[in-house]
Order: sequence, then C-alpha cells, then structure tokens
Amino acid sequence: MGGFAIIRQMNADLHCHSTVSDGCLEPAAVVRRAYDNGVTLLALTDHDELDGASEAAREAARLGVRFVPGVEVSVTYQNVTVHVVGLGVDPENPALQAGLARVRSGREERARRMSDALARAGLGGMLSGARRFARNPTMIGRAHFARYLVASGVMPDVRTVFDHYLSHGKPGFIPHRWADLEEAVCWIRGAGGVAVLAHPARYCQRLSTAAFDRLFDLFVAAGGEGVEVVAGAHSPEEAQRFATVARRRGLLASVGSDFHGEGESPVDVGRCNPLPPDLEPVWSRLT
Ligand code: AMP
Ligand code: MN
Ligand code: MN
Ligand code: MN
Repeated sequence: MGGFAIIRQMNADLHCHSTVSDGCLEPAAVVRRAYDNGVTLLALTDHDELDGASEAAREAARLGVRFVPGVEVSVTYQNVTVHVVGLGVDPENPALQAGLARVRSGREERARRMSDALARAGLGGMLSGARRFARNPTMIGRAHFARYLVASGVMPDVRTVFDHYLSHGKPGFIPHRWADLEEAVCWIRGAGGVAVLAHPARYCQRLSTAAFDRLFDLFVAAGGEGVEVVAGAHSPEEAQRFATVARRRGLLASVGSDFHGEGESPVDVGRCNPLPPDLEPVWSRLT
C-alpha cells in the first residue's frame, strides 16, 4: 500500500527553463514556484547550459524537493531542430560542458543575422533590444527577441511574434546548425545522464513519416532511452500517441511542462497531467 501512496503523491516535472537560458525566472525562483505547485521531483533543463544547476539544487535541498540536474540540447536532424533532454547529468562533466559550449558558440552570430533579417522586415534595433532580455548573453535566442517586441508594444504576445516573425520560414528565422543527434546523446550518457527525446509532436509536421521513425531509430541506436510523453506542447491525444511509441519501443516515459514563464507557457511548472500508469517512468533510472 505504501508504494502506491508514493506513486500517487509523485509530481514530477522534468523539463523547465530559467534565466540561464530563455526562461523568465532565476533558477531558485523556478524551484520555489515548482515547490509551491506541489512538485516533488524537479529537473531544470535549460537550453545548452548547465549553469543553473547548483543554485537550483541548493534551493531544492532547502525546500525538500528532489532535484535532478538536466539540460536540453539543441540538435539538428535533417535540417530540422530537435531537442534532446539530458536528465541526471553531472554538471561538472568536461566533455558535456565542452560540447554545450560549442553549441552555444553559434548563437551570437545567429542573433546578429536574425537582427539583420528583422531589420529588412521593418523591425530595427532588434539585437540590442533582445540583448536586454538575455541575462546570459551566450544564450541569446528567439524568445529574447520575442520578449523585446512584446515589451516595446509592437506585438501582443510571444506566440504572435513567433507566428509572424520567428517560426520556421518567417522573416526573422535564420536556419542554424546545432549539435548532431549522436553527439548530443553521447555527451549526456558520458555525463551519467539519461537522454530523452523532448516534445516529439513538435517535429512531425516538418519530417516525413519515414524520417520521423528514423529519428527514433537513430536516437535509440545512439543510446537514447526516453521520450517525453506528457509535455507542455503535447495535447492529450499526442500524449497518447507517444505513450504508444514508448510501449512499442520500450522507452522510458518522461513528463515535463517546458515552463518558461507566467503567461508565456501553456502549462505551469508542476501542472502536467500524470503519465499513463503502465509506462516505466524515467525517474526509475534517476534514483
Ligand atoms: P532558439 O533555441 O533560440 O531557437 O529558441 C527556441 C525557443 O523558442 C523554444 O525553446 C521556446 O522557448 C521558444 N519558442 C519556439 N517556438 C515558439 C512558439 N511558437 N511560441 C512561443 N515560443 C516558442
Ligand atoms: Mn526555450
Ligand atoms: Mn524544446
Ligand atoms: Mn524546453
């Protein structure tokens, strides 16, 4: 009976962001919000950066929240950006740190090109504007551009900015080469982590069915072990679809809000639906 009670009380959120990448809250504030929302197991998974782990771990220890260091690695697969979450990584691992530093190194030039492209579309001063919203200058990204346009009253909300300017094919979108799938999984595993394919429903429109299946094949062949089933970006139907994929492929199931900030994320930290109970949760590997 005790075991069931523990499972029922588990509220895991294994995907969220802080100001270390493109979240709106400092790492400790993300942890406090998670705690207030009843999270018992939390991973901070900033894009391509581990810097928030120590601050978040300290705050989690203070509040009695189980904390898992994580990262969300930007990957390019067949010209499509794919995200791989690493859970339970050692934030001090040199190879992981070096790999992420390399992935980050392209962002400055990309931001300059985004700014130039947006200027051609009639939006000037974007680079200096976006920089004001990027607390970590090496991690400047599309969300910072979007927030600047919202704050300056040009656009009503971040989603609208993406729809008009920043999504694939829009005037401010600059194609970019991130890490290879295999190397991202290799860095995560080398740092003692579990590699999880993040929000897979986000890629299927841009990949053929065959290429999408092959993404899973290559991910598993590289040593990937998990898939986000319940994700902030997934509808309940999409969660069911990837629950089926997890069963069929024997993948561990993960759950994550992908929280970035209040009013900006569809799901608050710690407010995800539970995983289907028959799936093996990824945290069985994180203890
Ligand atoms: P980047 O790594 O600079 O390409 O930025 C990717 C980030 O942009 C994602 O992690 C989200 O935070 C944000 N993003 C991407 N698409 C959207 C969208 N349609 N609406 C709001 N935010 C988005
Ligand atoms: Mn983001
Ligand atoms: Mn993502
Ligand atoms: Mn994310």
